[in-house]
Amino acid sequence: MPSKQISSPLSAVTSTWLSTSLRLCVWMVSIIFSLAVAQTAVAQEPSPAIIQNEATINFPESVDFVLEWPADANITSAVLHYDVDKVSCLEAAAQVPVDLVTNTDSIVAEWTWVMGRSGNPPPGSELNWYWTLTDIDGNVTQTVPQSKTFTDDRFSWQTISTEGIDLYWYRGEEVGPLLLEAAVAGLDTLENDMGIQLQDDVDIYIYGSAADMRDALLFVQEWAGGVAFDEYNTILMGVQPSSAEGWGRSTMRHELAHLVVGQYGWSCVGGSRPTWLNEGLAMYAEGEPDTETITSIQLATQNNSFEPLRSLNGSFSSHGPEAGIAYAQSYSVVDFLLREYGQESMQSLLLTLAEGTKYDDALLQVYGMDVDGVEAAWRIALGLPPRTFPPTPTPIVAANVPTAIPLGKPENVPTPPSANELPDVEERPLSPQNTGICGLGMIPLLGIGLVASWQGRSRKKLRDRKS
Ligand SMILES: [Zn+2]
Repeated sequence: MPSKQISSPLSAVTSTWLSTSLRLCVWMVSIIFSLAVAQTAVAQEPSPAIIQNEATINFPESVDFVLEWPADANITSAVLHYDVDKVSCLEAAAQVPVDLVTNTDSIVAEWTWVMGRSGNPPPGSELNWYWTLTDIDGNVTQTVPQSKTFTDDRFSWQTISTEGIDLYWYRGEEVGPLLLEAAVAGLDTLENDMGIQLQDDVDIYIYGSAADMRDALLFVQEWAGGVAFDEYNTILMGVQPSSAEGWGRSTMRHELAHLVVGQYGWSCVGGSRPTWLNEGLAMYAEGEPDTETITSIQLATQNNSFEPLRSLNGSFSSHGPEAGIAYAQSYSVVDFLLREYGQESMQSLLLTLAEGTKYDDALLQVYGMDVDGVEAAWRIALGLPPRTFPPTPTPIVAANVPTAIPLGKPENVPTPPSANELPDVEERPLSPQNTGICGLGMIPLLGIGLVASWQGRSRKKLRDRKS
């Protein structure tokens, strides 16, 4: 499987300062590891002859690192350094001091990265690692940096690619080409209607069912059928061949839109988008609204029962039927903004929000109206009277967490699987509604602040082996 790419040809770049800053940050992160290595290496002694330097990935649960060298090398301590390639502005390499085990002819340092607490990176992610060793005289040496790809070997993956997209699947011959075509159509909508382009290559993994997909992730809602990992430019979906044409096609466009909008509206400064904007844009990218969305909008218009838009800045109420109107309303508002004010204003809004501007301030700057003003204008366009009741207070939600934080970040909310999904694998109870929408939540990934507890695990493991 090809290694994950975190940059793409310059010709594909939209020339905004944000994309430049994104690339700069990605570049910085990708070289931080090697720079750190190079700087340390300058002052170092040559590394002792290494007998074994391996990382065995047990996807998705753990990674076993082992380093072995001759017993006469007089090494007194070993520190493991590792990270996973992702879009980030911060150095995220973890350092773990590892206990040494002395054998007859060699010394071994062994440590297991257990992802039960941190969450696992998606398949296709690239693991990097090296060790620093200190000898009895205090000289520090370093092993050659190595890399390995996280792969999900439970399945025989086929690959199909087009510019900027690598799609992997294993079930149903027609599924891969069909969903790749849907992805390309989604990109066309984003470019034609919003002027937003894919800026970094995307990996898409199509599992044969939602259950297969969820088994690839340690932390995922039990109802999830599709997940977009912004930081890894990776989408995972569970699509049975019978659902590929309907649910699969629209969900592909939806999740891809989350990634592309995420890339476009990303910066090292932080910043976030209101949920109604994120989900509205993703639904817009699905193409023509389905009957369910149209009916929801018609009913809410007739009954004057839309939510105050400000209440949709934060979390939606789960992924069940009650969330349906939130998604339909979000779509309607985004559709209104694009039709009335055009794609340049939408781009400007995304870029202003990426600078860390507050929602109301960003809307005021771009549209001359805060969120209540946008709602009022949209209601007039629908022929509705002004709203008479106040919005519920906006909860402090994941969407307001700045983008660049070291302990993982909120991902786009997963999408439930198709209600038509057949129970050919043990399925947990699913949402009764086939809304093709996202629910709520966040997936903590790749926490790096757990070194202390990992050390504890490592020591315990070595102690157990000794005894
Ligand atoms: Zn969504």
